[in-house]
Amino acid sequence: MYSVKKEIFIDSKIEELMIPADKVAHVQVGNPLEHALLVLVKSGYTAVPVLDPFFKLHGLISKTLILDSILGNETIEIDKISTLKVEEAMNKDIPRLKKNDEFIKALGLTINHPFVCVEDESGFFEGILTRRSILKLFTRNLNQQEKMS
Ligand code: AMP
Repeated sequence: MYSVKKEIFIDSKIEELMIPADKVAHVQVGNPLEHALLVLVKSGYTAVPVLDPFFKLHGLISKTLILDSILGNETIEIDKISTLKVEEAMNKDIPRLKKNDEFIKALGLTINHPFVCVEDESGFFEGILTRRSILKLFTRNLNQQEKMS
């Protein structure tokens, strides 16, 4: 029988597990929703961070939020997609992590979120931590135990 060792909670560092900012697809404040939808559809991601030109984190935009914001009374007001800006539809109330936060905090946040943004002390975007990378870590750990047994 294998078990998750407590070291995994102590030794795992958010900084080492996260996808760095330069590899994360994002959109900018001021972009029309149409651009955000293109980024989301082309990348295949459900949601991406919204940043300003200085890389400050403002929120998240998703396909669902975009569709919701162009939904009228029983019709889709498709013209709005080129006039509304991402900041008018994005979710500003998002969980955030710092690189030095404890791993257990990240673990808890990824229960309800497929990824969590990592920012520095001033709110500048540093990357994302995905639920996938945490699951990979646990799987690797359990596989190692199996090999050693
Ligand atoms: P994954 O863990 O790869 O399934 O990713 C889960 C979610 O995290 C995706 O649907 C995206 O919303 C986000 N995500 C993962 N990788 C990236 C990336 N490189 N750039 C932007 N968003 C990402």
